[in-house]
Amino acid sequence: MHRARKRFGQNFLQDSGVIYSIVAAINPSENMHVIEIGPGLGALTKPLLSSLDHLDLLEIDRDLVAYWNQENLKGLNIIEGDALKFDFLAWATTRPVNGGLCKVVGNLPYNISSPLLFHLVSAAHVIDEQVFMLQAEVVERMVSKAGGSEFSRLSVMLQARYDMELVLEVPPEAFDPQPKVNSAVVRMIPRRDFHLSDAQWHALEKVVAAAFSQRRKMLRTNLSVFSDRLALSDSELKARAQDISVERYIEWAKVLAT
Ligand code: SAM
Repeated sequence: MHRARKRFGQNFLQDSGVIYSIVAAINPSENMHVIEIGPGLGALTKPLLSSLDHLDLLEIDRDLVAYWNQENLKGLNIIEGDALKFDFLAWATTRPVNGGLCKVVGNLPYNISSPLLFHLVSAAHVIDEQVFMLQAEVVERMVSKAGGSEFSRLSVMLQARYDMELVLEVPPEAFDPQPKVNSAVVRMIPRRDFHLSDAQWHALEKVVAAAFSQRRKMLRTNLSVFSDRLALSDSELKARAQDISVERYIEWAKVLAT
């Protein structure tokens, strides 16, 4: 029997109702190109595979990789590796999808969720959908809108690149061992209207980081280094970072990158 490893964020899903809802949200079908990050002992893997021709698994734990190799299930391809270093762009483009969708799914280890979400941004133009279980507090920040108390750097950066929706909230009792926090499932669809160049994305990172550097301070202070290039209105100068819309940040990034 596999003992859950804390350092790999191993909390295995047990609740069949929750598993069913997540698989329904992923909506697998035969011609899809899907990779599951962190299959663990397969709570999502087996139900997913029953509707797919082929499923790639990416797992860091060598013992679990050995377990899956031993299972030797038809259509499964197990990759041993660290999702933070994995080349999702190459993965997405190596397999013809025949008009199907390219999806990344997983009940993610919570200790790597933010860096992993940013790592995946570089492949967003070739991925159709991501469905992830994450810490509920992170999902709240991801979907929070301008003016909301949870609206943050993470909200702006991810909403600039994805349309996102909260699918399901999941209590600790759904797992074994139980995590200390609540969880939630989020769907992320790369925005079709995203046209930022690398330089503009980089400028967005900079202006958003500066704006949120001191949440209580007005933008007059936080964005003072850009004051010669950004024409902030009087009300914007007095506003705080969390009051500014994602689209306005994008406009500023475009100005700064020219
Ligand atoms: N999918 C299973 C489930 O729902 O029961 C397991 C989920 S568990 C929260 C996270 C899984 O991700 C574990 O299998 C863990 O070994 C794996 N993992 C942890 N860090 C990883 C990384 N950097 N790259 C790939 N997999 C990782």
